[in-house]
Amino acid sequence: MAKRILITGGAGFIGSHLCEKLLQEGNEVIALDNFHTGRKNNLEKLFANPKFELIRHDITDPIKLEVDQIYNMACPASPVHYQSNPIKTMKTNILGMMNMLGLAKRVGARILQASTSEVYGNPLEHPQKESYWGNVNTIGIRSCYDEGKRAAETLCFDYKRTSNVDIRVIRIFNTYGPRMIPDDGRVVSNFIVQAIRGQDITIYGDGSQTRSFCYVDDLVRGIVSMMDQDHFIGPVNLGNDGEFTVKELAEMVIKEVGSKSKIIYLPLPQDDPTRRKPDLSLAKEKLNYQPTVPLIEGIKKTIQYFKASLNA
Ligand code: NAD
Ligand code: UDP
Repeated sequence: MAKRILITGGAGFIGSHLCEKLLQEGNEVIALDNFHTGRKNNLEKLFANPKFELIRHDITDPIKLEVDQIYNMACPASPVHYQSNPIKTMKTNILGMMNMLGLAKRVGARILQASTSEVYGNPLEHPQKESYWGNVNTIGIRSCYDEGKRAAETLCFDYKRTSNVDIRVIRIFNTYGPRMIPDDGRVVSNFIVQAIRGQDITIYGDGSQTRSFCYVDDLVRGIVSMMDQDHFIGPVNLGNDGEFTVKELAEMVIKEVGSKSKIIYLPLPQDDPTRRKPDLSLAKEKLNYQPTVPLIEGIKKTIQYFKASLNA
């Protein structure tokens, strides 16, 4: 049955793909965004659809809307952006989460929180299972995001315990694809944009740190399937469990772009996790979730997108 769905952070990278998918399924979609890292043109194709609305609003302020479901995606995801105003990042994660949980409670909506693999910090367990409690610095430069997201999860479970709010919690691992912003600072967009422009490819540290990269279409399928679960509330890891070093990623991007860029090595930022890879057993068991896009294929599609958008 068609629903009225609120997507906070709807003008952002993942949020805009989610808007598109939920409209395709016949729902009414309200995207809400303060345009910190989101852009109106991510949603351009949707403006003609009468079932779509876009609201400029900041979730750190309360809002009254009548909706059936809330996807709480609002929060800058790139370290460069979330560290640019760390106190605001904390406010978005805590005040914003409280406002959205309050809204869900008032109208009886189901609410899904976009949590993150960062709740595991620099993990001492590998791969990371949902049962792992993490290794997080409380006072470092990543803490506004990591601790903000951890507190947001706590709020979800406390609203469930005290007020029976219908929560779902997903922990997203590094996701990439079309509509990332070129100067967003995340590794996939940085490397592709540098390779296309023939600039040096900036590896932080020696490039031996690992990440597991998920193509956005796979992730969005997992997100919607989690929202539609009747009883399972999470938290559940979502991503792709292929693990690559940052150096392998740089070499892949240079080859696929056919670039003459050279690799240069810059200092590793503080608290940069050494290894990261999701254990996806729970997602497989409960959601029948299986990522389908191999890194090389997703990188090719993302290169195509950036070539077109940088020339536009
Ligand atoms: P993004 O920065 O592209 O999107 C975030 C969106 O939220 C932007 O449109 C931004 O303008 C909006 N926003 C930020 N603060 C807001 C506020 N206070 N009020 C209203 N809107 C606000 O990032 P993304 O990659 O699309 O990430 C979406 C969500 O998924 C985030 O919550 C992020 O923490 C989470 N996540 C993403 C990844 C990833 O690899 N992309 C990994 C883990 C978690
Ligand atoms: N990174 C890099 N060069 C860049 C941007 C990032 O080597 O130009 C590294 C970064 O230090 C980290 C990894 O790539 O080890 C992933 O960084 P990103 O910011 O994309 O995500 P996160 O660290 O939050 O997983």
